[in-house]
Amino acid sequence: MRKQVIAGNWKMNKTLAEVEAFMKELIQDYPNESGIEAIVCAPFVYLTELVKLAEGTQIKIAAQTMNDQTSGAYTGEVSPLMLNDIGVTHVVIGHSERRAYYNETDETVNKKAHAAFNHQLTPIICVGESLKQREAGDTLTHIESQIKLALKDLTEEQITQTIIAYEPIWAIGTGKTATHEQANEVCGHIRSVIGDLTNDSVKEAVTIQYGGSVNPDNIKALLQTEHIDGALVGGASLEAESFNKLIKVGVNL
Ligand code: 13P
Repeated sequence: MRKQVIAGNWKMNKTLAEVEAFMKELIQDYPNESGIEAIVCAPFVYLTELVKLAEGTQIKIAAQTMNDQTSGAYTGEVSPLMLNDIGVTHVVIGHSERRAYYNETDETVNKKAHAAFNHQLTPIICVGESLKQREAGDTLTHIESQIKLALKDLTEEQITQTIIAYEPIWAIGTGKTATHEQANEVCGHIRSVIGDLTNDSVKEAVTIQYGGSVNPDNIKALLQTEHIDGALVGGASLEAESFNKLIKVGVNL
């Protein structure tokens, strides 16, 4: 069976006091032996504290982006070496907000994916179409191109470890979730593109999440589909109670 991964992307939210309260509540209620992997994707400034707070639990801590260089004159940037050094295990790469506001391209996504593996970090690579692309019937070709460029020159073993997050841009923060049929269709396509790039065993093993207005009421139908192995959640991951509900739906499937 494929690994199920529920990740909460806090984006640019929370104070330190809120981070501490969240983790206390999450850990109290967290089903540790669940087999579900839970990841908290947080702003850089909280990562060290989060790694400490998550110690002894199965909760993993992720950064929301990083630079692809190891060190150097890149004022304001954070490197994969630094993330690995403080105990971060995962990094989100190519989120549509980073692509839209901070010039992330398929090329930078690929560079960062290589950099992540060079520093023992697991990348969560985001892909997704705009509403215009969906309405023009271009969804599958667009996603296929994003996947091929993102995974360029990674080894089969690295691709197996990569987490892909399919996040249609029109579904992010809008309350408009893709139907589970729409989401499963695209995730199935991603799986078959990965199969073409690699082989059947990688295709069957790779974890593909859906993201975009996931909440405790709609997650079950999404996770029950053939090709969706978890969720990347924004708004509904900000409260520990709601994040724990999402994890428990996965556990009880
Ligand atoms: P929402 O769950 O708030 O729609 O955000 C999705 C997302 O962008 C997660 O990375």
